[in-house]
Amino acid sequence: MDEMTQLEQIYASMGIEKAVYEYGGRILQKLEGRFRETDRTAEYNQLKVLQAMQKCRVSEACLSGTTGYGYNDLGRDTLEQVYANIFHTEDALVRPQITCGTHALALALMSCLRPGDELFSPVGKPYDTLEEVIGIRPSRGSLKEYGVTYRQTDLLPDGGFDYEGIRAGIHERTRLVTIQRSKGYQTRPTLSVERIGELIAFIKQIKPDVICMVDNCYGEFVEDREPTDVGADMAVGSLIKNPGGGLAPVGGYIVGRKECVENAACRLTSPGLAKEVGASLGVLKDFYQGLFLAPTVTASALKGAVFAANLYEPLGFGVVPDSTEMRHDIIQAVTFNDPEAVVAFCQGIQAAAPVDSHVTPQPWDMPGYDSQVIMAAGAFVSGSSIELSADGPIRPPYAVYFQGGLTWQHAKFGILKSLQALVDRGIVTREKLSAAG
Ligand SMILES: *Cc1c(COP(=O)(O)O)cnc(C)c1O
Repeated sequence: MDEMTQLEQIYASMGIEKAVYEYGGRILQKLEGRFRETDRTAEYNQLKVLQAMQKCRVSEACLSGTTGYGYNDLGRDTLEQVYANIFHTEDALVRPQITCGTHALALALMSCLRPGDELFSPVGKPYDTLEEVIGIRPSRGSLKEYGVTYRQTDLLPDGGFDYEGIRAGIHERTRLVTIQRSKGYQTRPTLSVERIGELIAFIKQIKPDVICMVDNCYGEFVEDREPTDVGADMAVGSLIKNPGGGLAPVGGYIVGRKECVENAACRLTSPGLAKEVGASLGVLKDFYQGLFLAPTVTASALKGAVFAANLYEPLGFGVVPDSTEMRHDIIQAVTFNDPEAVVAFCQGIQAAAPVDSHVTPQPWDMPGYDSQVIMAAGAFVSGSSIELSADGPIRPPYAVYFQGGLTWQHAKFGILKSLQALVDRGIVTREKLSAAG
């Protein structure tokens, strides 16, 4: 028998066979330069977060919360200043009462739109769960029920902006433009901050007073700038994704112009009360510490995504982004054209989890989605997708969307586990592994 290193031994004892381990090793050798770049961005963002915390004089008293109405909650108010500082905005709303990303987006939209207004997406169909918020799919309480209309212009087939279509889509009732940074459950490219800036500049030239909102989910800290640095009036996201650093147990944020944040606060709590109420209970220490860790956690997730692309591409699967592309979010799509492979991949990720590794995920009818979805998430925070996770809608082209990893080492193990699951089912052969990479 070959001599095995201690590392090889523990991988073997956790179900990764030698052929899979060695294939992964060959792929990794080529990624040193990419990983160095990722670390450099993380270093910059780490200092940006630290500087904001120091400037806002975060103190020990900020870490303990309030109960009841939550008047004069120093920790909550200071944290909102820290967010505003990082995103270079006038104000921020960062609350555990915002239950998830969809809620944060719904709040931003519903608070800034009035009956008769039109909402416009210049980047095609928004994220699945927003279809019911907008009323693209009929739903109780949607914007459509309140007389807010919706229009979209799709991206061009090559992923470019359809500038003519966008110009034609903006008129006097257009009040808010929603721009989704991340690809979500689509195989279109994610938008870089630079491209978002170009799009906003074009839109503001047509209609300067339109509100440009960016769905920033999965994009935070991936680059050294955020959409609010390039003209966005509002950026919105979830704390159980990048900015919560894996520690935030719940929550969402809205950063932006004072008027936009004020609108959202009035809608979240009540007109007249706005930001003044909302007890932070016991979550503040995790909100702060998670934000502090977010740049390096995001870097770990990014390394995992780059590794996955480089691992699966040589095996003949479609990967978006591809193995060499610059990253603008932490999501990696792998297209299998085979529902069984989607299930195998997700079950492999689940088997790598620190929590619930012994359970086997199955496709189910998840609320808010229009097809069955299989989700792998053995997470400390339920449903957290900054932790190693994968989702696959069971519909053509049978792609999985992989993201997260609180540490790079765990992301690597999870991805190798997914490949092992494909090998175990004969979807990827051992001959193919030794021929590729
Ligand atoms: C995750 C996500 C959302 C919705 O967030 P939830 O927390 O799942 O409700 C919206 N838009 C994008 C692009 C996302 O990635």
